[in-house]
Amino acid sequence: MTLRSILQSKGHEVYTTTPETKLSEVAKKLVHHQCGSLLVCDGDRLAGIITERDLLRVSATDGQDLESTPVSEVMTGNLVTGTPNDSISQTMGLLTEQRIRHLPILEDDKLVGIISIGDVVKAQYAELTIENHYLKSYILS
Ligand code: AMP
Repeated sequence: MTLRSILQSKGHEVYTTTPETKLSEVAKKLVHHQCGSLLVCDGDRLAGIITERDLLRVSATDGQDLESTPVSEVMTGNLVTGTPNDSISQTMGLLTEQRIRHLPILEDDKLVGIISIGDVVKAQYAELTIENHYLKSYILS
């Protein structure tokens, strides 16, 4: 199974913000959309990602606060990305190895969606459940 099948069922919507936006606005958007990350767009350019982890780090740092800190100060600019043809197990390995929980998906350099570790776990669970079912049927037959 590939990431394309996950995108087909969850959809291609991606929530975004800009480098100038204050973190308090990012927090509101994350809560509103019930998601854990926003991609940062600078005009047409995909400039990075900001996640709930980054907001938590700022909240725990003396001298920094969500009201005055812009996205550009805390976002990660060096993006790790995937493609729709990547397999689910390969992606699980990548997310674990890179210690990230969000993966923007690009096809022909165009953003086509975002996959979270939760999406990958859900798809892998479904795959293993089906495999388990067929193995049991085979053993019992
Ligand atoms: P997360 O576990 O996804 O909440 O993110 C942990 C840290 O990795 C945060 O500092 C994020 O900005 C960063 N991060 C998350 N996803 C990516 C990604 N796809 N590429 C690069 N950095 C990322």
